[in-house]
Amino acid sequence: MRRKLAAGNWKMNGLKADLREVAALLTDRPASGCEVLLCPPATLVAAMAMTAAGRIAVGGQDCHAAQSGAHTGDISAQMLKDAGASHVILGHSERRADHGETDAVVRAKTEAALAAGLVAVICLGETETQRDAGETLAVIGAQLEGSLPEGLTGATCVIAYEPVWAIGTGRIPSLDQIAEVHDFLRDRLVARFGAEGATMRLLYGGSVKPSNASEIFATSNVDGALVGGASLKAADFGAIVAAL
Ligand code: PGA
Repeated sequence: MRRKLAAGNWKMNGLKADLREVAALLTDRPASGCEVLLCPPATLVAAMAMTAAGRIAVGGQDCHAAQSGAHTGDISAQMLKDAGASHVILGHSERRADHGETDAVVRAKTEAALAAGLVAVICLGETETQRDAGETLAVIGAQLEGSLPEGLTGATCVIAYEPVWAIGTGRIPSLDQIAEVHDFLRDRLVARFGAEGATMRLLYGGSVKPSNASEIFATSNVDGALVGGASLKAADFGAIVAAL
C-alpha cells in the first residue's frame, strides 16, 4: 500500500509571517491518513521545520550536486538536511527552463540528495508543443531514464508528473490523460526497479485545487499531488489534504 502524499511547493513565495499558514494547517488539519510535505524557499526551511515540529515534513526546492565548495548562492543537500528538511524537489520544470537543468544534472542532484539522507521528489513533464506533437510518453520516458539514478526505492524517491502547460495556468489534462501517463510511469518504474518500482509514489502536479483534487486523486496510479499556488494558504491546502 502506498501512503498518499500531499506536497506543497511554495516556489519563490513566503516570508516569516507566512509561517502562520503552517500553524493554521496544524491546528485545522483535517483527519487524513496522508503524509503532508511543504517545501518553502530555503530561507524558511529551518523556521518551518521548527513550526511543523515533525507533524508536517519540510523540504527544499532544489540542491546542488556537490556537498560543499565554491558555488556562490547554492545550497547543498546536506545543508537542507541540517536545517530540518527531509525531502527536496529536484528537476522542477521551472529549474529545467530557468536554469538549464538537464536530466544529467537532475540525476547528479538526486544522488547528492540520497547521500544526504533526503527523499528526492523528482519532477517530469512535457511542454504543450510536445503534447500536441504526440510526444508526451516519449518525453516522459526519456526524462525518467535520464533523471533517475540506479538504486532508488519507494522510501528514497517520489516522482511528480507535472505537465509544463498545466503549471499555474488553471488548465489540467483530462483524467484519461493523467491516467495514461501515470500508468506508463508505473510500468517503467517496475521494469527498471522491480518490486521497489511498485512502491514509489507518483504525484500529479499542475493547477491542483480543492475543486479538482478529489477526481485527480481517484485516478489510476495517482498517489497524491504536488501543489504550487494552492499550497500557500492553509484553507486551500487543507482542503486538498482532506480530499486525499
Ligand atoms: P501550480 O504549480 O499548482 O501552481 O500549478 C504546481 C507546481 O509547479 O508544482
